[in-house]
Amino acid sequence: MYLLVVTTWACNLRCTYCKVHFENKYIPEDYLFKAVDLLCGSQDKELKLEFFGGEPLLLPFDLIRRTIEYGERKAASLGKTVKFIMTTNATLLDEAKIAYFKEHGVLLIVSLDGDRRSHNKNRPRMGCKDETYPLVVKNLPMIFRNGLDAYCYTVVTPDTAPRLIESFNSLVELGFKKVWIMVSCGPKFTDAKLKLLRKKLKELVPAAVAALKDRGVALLNVKNWLSPMPMNTELSVNIDGNIYSACLAYLVKDDAVRNRYILGHISDPELKIDDLHPGRLSNTRAMSIIYRENGIVGNLRNNVKAGLLFTEFAGKMRAELAKKRLLKKYNKLTSDIEGR
Ligand code: SF4
Repeated sequence: MYLLVVTTWACNLRCTYCKVHFENKYIPEDYLFKAVDLLCGSQDKELKLEFFGGEPLLLPFDLIRRTIEYGERKAASLGKTVKFIMTTNATLLDEAKIAYFKEHGVLLIVSLDGDRRSHNKNRPRMGCKDETYPLVVKNLPMIFRNGLDAYCYTVVTPDTAPRLIESFNSLVELGFKKVWIMVSCGPKFTDAKLKLLRKKLKELVPAAVAALKDRGVALLNVKNWLSPMPMNTELSVNIDGNIYSACLAYLVKDDAVRNRYILGHISDPELKIDDLHPGRLSNTRAMSIIYRENGIVGNLRNNVKAGLLFTEFAGKMRAELAKKRLLKKYNKLTSDIEGR
């Protein structure tokens, strides 16, 4: 069972494609512990809890630490295991946090949009023009030196599609062993940019095959792409304690609209996560709500076209890995990743 917790709507970055409705609000401490209780109530033995935002490392680290340790104790007392996941822009990491995550087997999902030019283009800081690439990259040697379980989440926009190969190669050079590439939600690809994206994805096939063969790098899209483009529909607890499909929690600003999709509230002692889970939105429904509520419905068909290029790419990658007898190696490297 998987539960995502939206810990804050605050963030120190302002990524060009981000649709989070920023507010300096944080989840209360007791909701974090209740989220652990809800998750541990599942019949499943293997549990996962993801800290999400905004930027979850803006939360006091002591609170993150106490939530993790409470979860570990509670799961163990029930004969279960819980894996914690931290999706972060990685600008606020330091040696002590990384060592703690290593000690507690936390999976770090690092948002880094490729090479320096692409990343800085997509992911500026809040309120200033300073580059954010160095703030992330300085932390990577600590992550890899500690052997922390980590992978890279990278977003391709119309602006950065021309540098897709340079970006992928740069992530490989930085030391990532797992990379997930997502197409941005919202920004419109011109016909020329769609054509270029298709060309770049074609070129990415040999680059990604070589990275797997020579460097043991797995592109997670091969296993995990959901056509035409995956939305985040995991069960989630929002900062106000309401439970939804995740993308609604942080991508729908209008309370009245969001409230239509509430599945429950974390304070309800009768809630059973196994009963809530089937109530999540379908991917298609989530797409239509998010595009409508963010006033970008006019770009939906265009973005679907871009997403379908990624679907085509994942198919080509699978065929190429089979042809080169690399599927076994790929499956071994990604055995901990659940397919969609
Ligand atoms: S780091 Fe994440 S939450 Fe912050 S602006 Fe970028 S995409 Fe949005």
